Amino acid sequence: MPRPIFAKIHPDSVAINLAQARFATHKNASKIWATIKANAYGHGIEHIYDGLLDADGLAMLDLSEAQRVRDLGWNKPILMLEGCFSVSDYSFVCDLDLTVVVHHEAQIDWLITYYEHNQTQYSINIYLKLNTGMNRVGFLPQRYEEVFSRLRALPFVGEITLMTHFANADILDGVAEQMALFNAVTTPIVKKHPQILRSCSNSAAILTHPQAHFDWIRPGVMIYGGSPFLDQTAQSHQLQAAMTLGSELIALQTVQAGEAIGYGSRFVAKKNMTIGVVACGYADGYPRHAPDGTPVWVDGVKVCLVGRVSMDMMMVDLTSAPDAKVGTPVELWGKNLPIDEVAQSAGTIGYELMCGLAQRVPVIVE
Ligand SMILES: *Cc1c(COP(=O)(O)O)cnc(C)c1O
Repeated sequence: MPRPIFAKIHPDSVAINLAQARFATHKNASKIWATIKANAYGHGIEHIYDGLLDADGLAMLDLSEAQRVRDLGWNKPILMLEGCFSVSDYSFVCDLDLTVVVHHEAQIDWLITYYEHNQTQYSINIYLKLNTGMNRVGFLPQRYEEVFSRLRALPFVGEITLMTHFANADILDGVAEQMALFNAVTTPIVKKHPQILRSCSNSAAILTHPQAHFDWIRPGVMIYGGSPFLDQTAQSHQLQAAMTLGSELIALQTVQAGEAIGYGSRFVAKKNMTIGVVACGYADGYPRHAPDGTPVWVDGVKVCLVGRVSMDMMMVDLTSAPDAKVGTPVELWGKNLPIDEVAQSAGTIGYELMCGLAQRVPVIVE
């Protein structure tokens, strides 16, 4: 028998969460780029695909991921969030019918070089990225209109959509400055080109900053049932977990007061207690730095991690689960135990935990 660990993937939850994203926009009118970079935030693109069918487009980074969704039969738009990394990438863009972000000058030079050397009728749609303060990628405000005009003048460029990305959408008033700059820079362009579309919002902005929704929203973590906030649960936004990481107890230990548990003897029992050993460790993607007290769901109750997480196992305090035995089901995160609770205890975010699900964990699609 294989180790009892598994990840259960819930495509139905993705569909429900996508509907929540749409519902958050004015008159449900914004279109949705479901963001599926990093292999759908660790869920597996193929595993959640059925839950994505109501999205208007899929956003990602890797050409191989674009190929995979076309192979699955996706015939709606695909957005490459970082655009092209070389001249030759544009041939995949044409072949796979992709929309590309353009965020720096070299990408325009490559685009022109590609069209100079290749015979193609393909009209390429572009998302032109404005750096409004995140200072990661995007054109500076003072260059933006000029770059827009340069692209607009190219005969092979189709639609140009204006975009930016927020650094602090997870806090109150966190988009005010960036929105002011985005509006100041884009309003003159929109006045000259009234048909032009705009896209700004990640999950946090979708859920709390309606003034930033515009024409296309870009939900990521929320469609997997994760919260983009530290102080608001996914549940409070009616989001449902798309991944349950489950396992079983594979051993029990009785320890006496004063005895230590696991590597480094980090946890020392204050009283006589029963310890459960869970088949899950950092080689499965569970955070090694999770401290004592991190919640784990065992036999219908929340119990506490005790001792250092090892490669393949971790230990829990079974004081509040007296009937637990070898074979008792355990949930590390998912439908019963929000991934964000575990992440917060471990000093990280739900995003990192989902993306870190290890290859060796068998996946079951519900
Ligand atoms: C990842 C990403 C998103 C989605 O962000 P979430 O916080 O997961 O909703 C949106 N836009 C861009 C440009 C991204 O890279």
